[in-house]
Amino acid sequence: MSRLVMVSNRLPVTVRHQRSGIGLIESSGGLASGLHSYLAKNPGAWVGWPGLASELLSSSQRQQVIDELAKRDYHPVFLTRRLVTDFYLGFANRALWPLAHYFTQYPVYSQRQWQAYQQGNELFTEQTLHQAKPDDLIWVHDYHLLLAPEMLRRERPGQKIGFFLHIPFPEFEVFRQLPWRTEVLAGLLGADVIGFHTEGDRQHFADCLARLLGLGGNGRQVLVDGRVVTLGVYPMGIDSGRFASAGSLPAVRRQIAHLRRQMGERHLILSLDRLDYSKGIPRRLEAYGRFLKSHREWHGKVTLVAVTVPSRQEVTEYESLRRNVAERVGEINGQFGTLGWVPIWYLHRSVPFELLCALYRTAEVALVTPLRDGMNLVAKEYVASQENGQGVLILSETAGAAAELDQALIVNPFDLDQVAAALATALAMPEEERRSKNAKMQRHLAGATVESWAESFLADLKRD
Ligand code: UDP
Repeated sequence: MSRLVMVSNRLPVTVRHQRSGIGLIESSGGLASGLHSYLAKNPGAWVGWPGLASELLSSSQRQQVIDELAKRDYHPVFLTRRLVTDFYLGFANRALWPLAHYFTQYPVYSQRQWQAYQQGNELFTEQTLHQAKPDDLIWVHDYHLLLAPEMLRRERPGQKIGFFLHIPFPEFEVFRQLPWRTEVLAGLLGADVIGFHTEGDRQHFADCLARLLGLGGNGRQVLVDGRVVTLGVYPMGIDSGRFASAGSLPAVRRQIAHLRRQMGERHLILSLDRLDYSKGIPRRLEAYGRFLKSHREWHGKVTLVAVTVPSRQEVTEYESLRRNVAERVGEINGQFGTLGWVPIWYLHRSVPFELLCALYRTAEVALVTPLRDGMNLVAKEYVASQENGQGVLILSETAGAAAELDQALIVNPFDLDQVAAALATALAMPEEERRSKNAKMQRHLAGATVESWAESFLADLKRD
């Protein structure tokens, strides 16, 4: 029976040093937990980095990690400190990430980091070849591993290889900036199926193939050395049942009660993301400031709970963003706050699942305004969590999720007056309208789960 071999930068668990020795910590959320039930039914292995530089492990600890992970059919790729810096934090997160999110002034293009990126992709390829039998399906994920499909193909011409890109694929005029643009395209074309979240991403990729490699086709399939490569659109879903039913968990109920006590009569507006410049957090805060300036009637009656989850702190842009956000929160609280009212509650930390669900359920408005986002799962999780149908989602037109969540108040995240006006509209929206919007979106989310997403991608890969 053919197995599924998943390949992603991170494994579903992270290895940590603990007092008792080496420990494994489950990643909350993400691909692995979403695909839990799928993987329970379909045998498979997982290849990825356990999250710790290899210098931090002695050789016996390294063996212990291999043995522990093997029990779950997880297979580690060990990255040295140098590769963590130049491959992961470097090329992946300082060149590819900003470019894909249209931050064209941010990318750092360094030959050293590019070489590390190639080496990193080779290490993942080696381990994958070690684990995958010829009739297994190999599914490579995301922007860290754009070269792996071609590296795998060279060794296994007949293998089924799929690739899914979780971030946007930028337009040609942006992508052309990348000094190694043709190598990256060629790397991806090693796959049989290349999946994107949105039709726009697929079109951008097909356009780059045509203009940079002269590869034509119908936009859905291209012929590469006599091999057909399928370009597919698979918007990733969530485990919506998990969010819909979380309200019955006692820990979530306790958190909701606690939040309500703290909020009193105030309306909660939620802003929750990883602290990333693509999420547009400073602009969002500024839009909230404009809302407060032009809608004095809401003073003292709303609280914006802004959660920023620490991320990639080793990269300079993230550190300056952290300061920028903290300053803006301070400015708005200083300008509009009173002794009895703090307009923004700011938390810079990750939140446990129970608190996350309580926030989703208590917030009357979710302000999800990334400047650019591949999908944005927070938007979907928020809608799926609305058991009483009350919450209003304000969503950027530049998030992949906007293609599906069309009942949200869709905004241009750069148009701060529009975002401020949407806040006023959301807060005043009649209950019936809220319910009907959520019901429509919830129906969609219930049918478009992360499991059905994986199934439709893999069906195309098998058929190909
Ligand atoms: N999330 C998390 N820890 C937190 C808060 C949120 O793991 O403290 C989860 C959240 O539930 C969601 C994911 O992180 O599933 C964020 O996904 P999204 O697509 O919105 O953005 P990304 O961070 O992948 O750019």
